[in-house]
Amino acid sequence: MNLSRRANSITTSPTMAVLEEVAKLKDKGIEVLDLGPGQPDFHTPDNIKLAANKAIEEDFTRYTEPSGILELRKAVIEKYRRDFGAQYKPNEVIISSGGKHSLFNLMLAIIEEGDEVLIPAPYWVSYPQQVILAGGKLRYIELQEENQFVLTRDILDESLSTNTKAVIINTPCNPTGSVIPEEELEKIAELALKKRIYIIFDECYEKLTYDGVKHFSLASLQEAKKVTLIINSVSKTYAMPGWRIGFALGPEKVISTVAKLQSHTTSAPCSISQKATVEALNGSQDFIKDMLAQYARRRDYMVEALKSIPGISCYKPQGTFYIFPNITHLLESTNINSSEELSRQLVNHARVAVVPGSSFGKEGYLRLSFATSIEVIKESMKRMKEFVEGL
Ligand code: PLP
Repeated sequence: MNLSRRANSITTSPTMAVLEEVAKLKDKGIEVLDLGPGQPDFHTPDNIKLAANKAIEEDFTRYTEPSGILELRKAVIEKYRRDFGAQYKPNEVIISSGGKHSLFNLMLAIIEEGDEVLIPAPYWVSYPQQVILAGGKLRYIELQEENQFVLTRDILDESLSTNTKAVIINTPCNPTGSVIPEEELEKIAELALKKRIYIIFDECYEKLTYDGVKHFSLASLQEAKKVTLIINSVSKTYAMPGWRIGFALGPEKVISTVAKLQSHTTSAPCSISQKATVEALNGSQDFIKDMLAQYARRRDYMVEALKSIPGISCYKPQGTFYIFPNITHLLESTNINSSEELSRQLVNHARVAVVPGSSFGKEGYLRLSFATSIEVIKESMKRMKEFVEGL
């Protein structure tokens, strides 16, 4: 019997090939240094864990409202008021089982069969697959390294067609670490309003910025609210990826449709995780500062180490915990001809796992995560350098 055409239309994670190599080596007892992680290596702060314990002790273990408990939606609203001066009402917010889930529900809510969705490349791996699943038509906007892969209003304008329903914007960006400046986002929002397209605005890495660079949220722009669909998550900011809590904010019409979809699929996310997230948002935010200081040190070390490897160049990312080095000279000067082949050889010969740029729609690059210890970073940089110098 055949499987559904819809399910067959998407691919499994493109990083699978390298992960399989890693798994084979690990199975043989060979240690591989992993620069692949897309999640913080920090533990969830104690105050958040205590709030979850309390929820269990108090038997807060039943189904909740499908859109998430009002206490948490209010905490999200307060967070957006505090951070961005934004004004949302409880029926303009929904809590989902992770940002990825919020995103998919939003796509299902707004995309009509054949609607075009623009995705700036390099992109996070799940965007194209979710658009396909929702029945949309993909169109990529090729961004360039010259301006650190930042989407501009003019590039977006050139890419629009009469069939464009939405554009996905991710800032700070996974995998490039780029942050779109406020002035550019204001112009992009103005264009979206004029052309009547939605902006799906993924700000999951909002708190992870460096060197005084500040993330600008489209939620700050009251006049753009009609077209702005915000996605956020506690996975990266509060080191809570396994708790599976994300949220979406937008016009009531869209959010109530997301709520309807969610009520018949997953229902509300885990009740205990919701209580923990109330504490994450309302409690002390000191943890973030400490985490950022460590990330910044690791980033600085890694950027300098990468730049000392022949054939590799890279800029210093302003946000996230990823570095996206350019390997085009390395590919030109060796008989390795793709980022996937280089990643495979790095695993097999240097015992270092990285993610090929092709997974994110950009050949000629690698993605390295610094969400791991400085010791692992130092050793993997040493191994990468030795491997490349020996080619
Ligand atoms: N958006 C981006 C750009 C991400 O990198 C991720 C996770 O890696 C997510 C959204 C989803 O995060 P979660 O589902 O853990 O909230």
